[in-house]
Amino acid sequence: MTSVTVVGAGVGGLTAAIALDRAGVDVTVIDPAPHADALALGSGIHLWSNAVQALGRIGLADDIAALGNPIETHRYLRADQSAMGIFDVGSASAAHGAPTVGLSRPVLHRRLIDALGVDRIRFGAAVTAVEQDDASATVTLSDGARISGDAVVGADGVSSTVRAAVTGSPAPLRYSGLTSWRGLCGYDHPALDKQAMQIYWGRGLRMVMYQVSGGLLYWLALVKAPPRGTDPVGGARAAARVHFDGWPEFMQGAIDATEEPIVHRADILRMSPTNRWGSGRITLVGDAIHAMTPDVAQGACQAIEDGVALGIAVGGDRDLPAALRRYEKVRRSRAAGLMRMSTMINRLGALDGAAGVGLRDHLFLPVVYRMQAATKAKGFLTPALGS
Ligand SMILES: Cc1cc2nc3c(=O)[nH]c(=O)nc-3n(C[C@H](O)[C@H](O)[C@H](O)COP(=O)(O)OP(=O)(O)OC[C@H]3O[C@@H](n4cnc5c(N)ncnc54)[C@H](O)[C@@H]3O)c2cc1C
Repeated sequence: MTSVTVVGAGVGGLTAAIALDRAGVDVTVIDPAPHADALALGSGIHLWSNAVQALGRIGLADDIAALGNPIETHRYLRADQSAMGIFDVGSASAAHGAPTVGLSRPVLHRRLIDALGVDRIRFGAAVTAVEQDDASATVTLSDGARISGDAVVGADGVSSTVRAAVTGSPAPLRYSGLTSWRGLCGYDHPALDKQAMQIYWGRGLRMVMYQVSGGLLYWLALVKAPPRGTDPVGGARAAARVHFDGWPEFMQGAIDATEEPIVHRADILRMSPTNRWGSGRITLVGDAIHAMTPDVAQGACQAIEDGVALGIAVGGDRDLPAALRRYEKVRRSRAAGLMRMSTMINRLGALDGAAGVGLRDHLFLPVVYRMQAATKAKGFLTPALGS
């Protein structure tokens, strides 16, 4: 039986492990987290229809749809609440055969862990080195253990150790110019449509809000700021809120309704697309190879597409290196296109001068949103999985 070691139990690693398992592979996942509850953390996540379609290939689409909150509409607004565009994401998603949903990250993670089986995850040790020869690939763990198998999948996120082993150097991560605060709260307001994602564009500032599982409200503030900024202990909520003085009061209300420990600050980092996704018996999935800014909400969606595509490529193929290269070929241009698109939107989000913001909000974005509605985001919502 083919055996594969997956490094990292994030969304990408878990999806890859489930897909490989379903393809008849003996799979082991390694993660430094001490236990499953420590993995299932975070606030909210928006999964586009393309990710839910991909999850359908491993039998999880209905579960994930049922666990999430259906997002029927995207509303794009200026800071004064006037509309720049509206997208009927519900109809576009239905035309593709799977909904777009807002989920709590812990709920998504827990479902993926259950689908894989928690006994397939080896907790409490990080991979420190990867090596391969013609017949096998071996990882060394921080506790000194070594695990050999037929292949290694690096799903170990932006600071990937496996990627460094493939390319000889760490990922060239770039600061996008924006930092973020995220939160999850029980908060309701007439201005907040329960089935909509609402995106408010300001000067070097955006607020994204939508409901996730369990009727909770997720908010994400994206703010132009120097890199590596920190908040005083217990001060993340206040640091986020100050940027929204003078904005609609429900934004301040949502931030105030979020418990301080749940507010999470992170700089937004990104990579540039690359052609080298693997070598020999090693390949990469998710942020390890295509970390993108969250501006089109496709980072985890692409990690899910990667995992499913990997299972499809490997299924039944005795020539594992050839199957890995086939997987990479299926995925490269899809991920690269979305990386470029999210970087472009990110740059628009960093604009803070009156002239640039005026052009963006009154000319450019309204046209972009009209095109999105007219095309029903066809290519965007079609996963690239291979066959
Ligand atoms: C503010 C923000 C909002 C976002 N919103 C969305 C959204 O709405 N929709 C969307 O699709 N995407 C979104 N994204 C992107 C998404 O979060 C990521 O693309 C996704 O989580 C990447 O998953 P991953 O499994 O590749 O990596 P990760 O989630 O980073 O998981 C990597 C795993 O590897 C483990 N690991 C690390 N090093 C090692 C090692 N040496 N050995 C073993 N294990 C290791 C870690 O413990 C971790 O469990 C957002 C990102 C940000 C920053």
